[in-house]
Parts: sequence; structure tokens; C-alpha cells
Amino acid sequence: MNSNFKVRSSYVHDTANKFLNNIAFTQPPIPVLSLIKQYAKLKWHADACEGFIYYDPFRRKKKYIVSIDKEMIKGRTNWTIAHELGHIILNHFIEFDIDNLNDEEHDILDREAEIFARELLMPREWVKSNCEHPLTISILAKLKNLFDVSWQAITYRLDELNIYSKDYVLSLHEARKIEKET
Ligand SMILES: [Zn+2]
Repeated sequence: MNSNFKVRSSYVHDTANKFLNNIAFTQPPIPVLSLIKQYAKLKWHADACEGFIYYDPFRRKKKYIVSIDKEMIKGRTNWTIAHELGHIILNHFIEFDIDNLNDEEHDILDREAEIFARELLMPREWVKSNCEHPLTISILAKLKNLFDVSWQAITYRLDELNIYSKDYVLSLHEARKIEKET
């Protein structure tokens, strides 16, 4: 593998933030479905393994075709769409010879798309300004609904932004389970 091939974190952060500034939304949730439709033809499948993106340079208008699993939960669907949008906005299909990359290189581009998805769906400042303290499960649920993401996604984002650690959030879930049982 080309040793220069690695996750370009700051490029991804910058690109996601520029994209956010351009679309100029002022509050969550980010309407990723209508955003991706500007670039891609969308197909809903019963079994698309979450999501799949295909680039066809010969198509006249929208050169991307994105297949989304229609049976996923909503937060997960938004995540998958944001991930595929990441591949588009980060120019992965234009900059790289996708069909000739190895697994490791594909994995790197996927990780970039994940970073993009996080930045897009849960912008740092919005998460910070909407997180009430001290965190409880119902505040977490409010955040999850506000950003239209899964429990896992909001938990990881709080951890990543050093607002609340993953372990702390898990301990809240545990505490509530015990409360319910007793
Ligand atoms: Zn991907």
C-alpha cells in the first residue's frame, strides 16, 4: 500500500465545516436526505447492506447512485446517507481509482466518510450548546431526537468532543436499568 494513503482528518473536518457553512442551516437536524438527492439518484432496497454508492461518470446528470436499506431504523438511515454524502463531497470517486484500491485503502476512505458524517450530523458547536448538564438519559434522548441520530452515534460524539465519556453514558443506562428493576 502507498504509505501516503491515510485518513486525512483535518481535510475531512475542513471540508465538512465548509459544506455546513454553505448549506447555511441554523439548527439540527441536517436534512441529509434532501441534500444527497442534489448529487445522487437514490434507490431504496430491502437488503442493501445499509448503504451502497456507485459512481457512473457517463450518466448525464446525477453521476452517483446510492442504494439505502429501507428497513433500517431512522437514525441509522440518516447516518448511512451522511456517510455516502461524505464519499461524494470528499471527492473520493473523482480523486481515487476506487475500483483498484485494496481493502485497507477502502477502509481509509470509509473512515473519512464516517468522520464527515459525524461532523455533518452533529456539529460540535450545536452539540455543545444543546447539551444540558448534568447529563441524564432523558437529556441524551432529547439530543438523539434533535440530531436525528442513533443512541450510539450521539454517545460517541459526546465522548469524542470530551463532553461526557462513553463509560459515563453507559453508566447512566446501567443506573436506570437497576432503578427499573428495583
Ligand atoms: Zn463507505
